[in-house]
Amino acid sequence: MNNGLLFNKTRIAPTPSGFVHLGNVLSFAITAALAGKTKARIVLRIDDNERDKINKSHVQDIFDTLNFLEIPWDEGPQNLWEYENEYSQLHRMDIYTKTLAQLKEHGNIFACTCSRSQVMGRNKERVYPGTCRHSNIPYDTANACWRLLTNNTKELSVKTMDGKEIITRLPAVMQDFIVKKKDGYPAYQLTSVLDDIYFGIDLVVRGEDLWPSTLAQHYLASVLQQDAFSGITFYHHPLLMAGDDKLSKTAGATSVQYYRSQHKKPADIYSMIARMLGIEATPANWQELTTLLDIKMNMQ
Ligand SMILES: [Zn+2]
Repeated sequence: MNNGLLFNKTRIAPTPSGFVHLGNVLSFAITAALAGKTKARIVLRIDDNERDKINKSHVQDIFDTLNFLEIPWDEGPQNLWEYENEYSQLHRMDIYTKTLAQLKEHGNIFACTCSRSQVMGRNKERVYPGTCRHSNIPYDTANACWRLLTNNTKELSVKTMDGKEIITRLPAVMQDFIVKKKDGYPAYQLTSVLDDIYFGIDLVVRGEDLWPSTLAQHYLASVLQQDAFSGITFYHHPLLMAGDDKLSKTAGATSVQYYRSQHKKPADIYSMIARMLGIEATPANWQELTTLLDIKMNMQ
């Protein structure tokens, strides 16, 4: 899978807006396996910029679950105290704010007051139709978000694990994507780019549902002339499916915490994930699970 590639650092980046679920565990396990194969250190980054959705019990759950499942990390907070006092994204707000000011100064953004339903009401694909592009809405308007002025002609290049590059363009769903939210906090695409550069990440492992985000982040990095970002290698892994639906936090009782309350052991959790991937085996730990994945998904 790695063709002898070596990396310095990768990261696991959960969002504490819910309890860690089986889909997250699969992602963490694949990250840990790839880190092992490529000698990369693992940074734990807790993405907490959705300020109205997070709470401490979800942050604590991240530590509890990683420890319970024996998934290691080398850098980042080891506990709630370190998270709050050193590693929350609130501690990097200066970096985000400066970058947003730079985008504004260079005329790269516009303010948008469209409601979610106004954007969604127009199309099922969630493509922003450019409504406020030329409205000159003042940047400091209450409840306005800031969107990046994008074009779909810019070529984007993404480095992949096979040592190649995918050349593509920004997908329609990311047209004029948001860099600052209505609540005033920086948006995910912006914090993720700046954090990956800040921590010196050179391998990003994430679910294939985040491919459009990967492209948005490359786009933003090129606007910011953050050349280090284009050097990052990306690996997008298949998702766990529950029936026909992507397994997500809203899908119900799939949190590790729930299964622990049912006295399930780590081996039970890994076996459940294997079953959901159609693998007839009972892996005892993440190492065994990811070894099976290599065979099943032909990721070599
Ligand atoms: Zn708008």
